[in-house]
Amino acid sequence: MTNFYPGVAGPRGYNPTGIIIHNDAGSQIGTAAWYRNWLPTHPAEAGFAHYYVSSDGIYQAEKESNVAWHCANRKYNHDFIGIEACQSMGDEAIFRQNEDNAFKLAAQICNRYGITPNEQTIMLHKEVFATACPHRSVALHGESNANVKAFFIAKIKQYMGNSASISPSKTSLAVDGYAGASTISAMQKILGGTINGQIWGQTKYSAQFIPAFTTVSLEGKGSEVVRKLQAKLGVAVDGFAGPGTIKALQTKLGVPTDGYAGVTTVKALQINLNNGKVF
Ligand SMILES: [Zn+2]
Repeated sequence: MTNFYPGVAGPRGYNPTGIIIHNDAGSQIGTAAWYRNWLPTHPAEAGFAHYYVSSDGIYQAEKESNVAWHCANRKYNHDFIGIEACQSMGDEAIFRQNEDNAFKLAAQICNRYGITPNEQTIMLHKEVFATACPHRSVALHGESNANVKAFFIAKIKQYMGNSASISPSKTSLAVDGYAGASTISAMQKILGGTINGQIWGQTKYSAQFIPAFTTVSLEGKGSEVVRKLQAKLGVAVDGFAGPGTIKALQTKLGVPTDGYAGVTTVKALQINLNNGKVF
């Protein structure tokens, strides 16, 4: 049994050809931050998706270029991106918001790879495996597979034509203390370099110092945006978000210097980013 680790299911070797939007079985506590902490303790063979969309943001657990074990069907695991709309057993308004954000993410992915949303490219989990998933979406959007798919496809098409409204550059960040793709993209825009909304290349050791960052992965090669931040802070440039880097950032932000970038640190960062600066 292999505990979850990015790249565990291997590279796809070509672009994804479609998307499955799942409903996780989680309650209100099944947030992006929760999945980020839980997946490394979870056997990968028991399943993981590329993205977890929740009330606290989006956790990307796997690169789009890699396979994820999200639907127990060999073809669709290999070819399709898996997105979990989280907190499906919780409050309806929160679930609907998560589902809507999953459609926006799916629209970005379709635009990125030239995928036309239709009945072949937007599949329901229950069409490819014996499962109730996406159970909450089914209950909310017309019960039959055809009705639910029509709703999913229409929403994704709507957002594909409206991508400006979901670009992080066009909206100010919510000061919620969780650094997901929008917050990290805003940092990358200011610091320079690749804008992908992600902090890749951390280690299990370094990742513990950025607990309120939700789009982080553990490939151990260091991260470009962390290197840019370290250069600006004037600390050792290694690409890993260790306690020295975080304490230097906290000093600049005027928050307690405990070495962990939690909610207080990220809120101060988000306020600065909304004013066009990191510190
Ligand atoms: Zn599913």
